[in-house]
Amino acid sequence: MKKCPGCGREYPDEFSVCAVDGQTLQSVTAPPVAAPGPAPGQYYQTRKLLTYVAPLRAGLVLAVLYAFFGLIFAPFFILIALIGKQTGGGFPAALGGVIGAIFFPVVYGIAGFLGGLIGAAVYNLVARWTGGLEFEFRDAPQRPVY
Ligand SMILES: [Zn+2]
Repeated sequence: MKKCPGCGREYPDEFSVCAVDGQTLQSVTAPPVAAPGPAPGQYYQTRKLLTYVAPLRAGLVLAVLYAFFGLIFAPFFILIALIGKQTGGGFPAALGGVIGAIFFPVVYGIAGFLGGLIGAAVYNLVARWTGGLEFEFRDAPQRPVY
């Protein structure tokens, strides 16, 4: 590719003079095409390895998450409690419903905590042997925050 030093217009290589202002064209070397991936010995700048997950934090996050999932059952148990009360089931039925509504979020929370704790500990061990999961990160395009 060639370029006119006067007006900046670009021409194919076979041209030698600018058609507009008659100046001698100068050849321009095309910018090198970026090679895909890093050169040998270089790092992928956008790749990250997940080498460690904090077990306690993972347990805490999953405990809260699963406690919320456990809440899904609460309306059913409250319904059972209300029906029990209306059909004369009396105190035991109502109590059973309330206990059920509390029981599931608590049990799910405990299970989530243990799952997160143990899962993270096991992952950390496996990551040490294998290098861990590899992620690719890109800058997100600018847009309104939501
Ligand atoms: Zn020109």
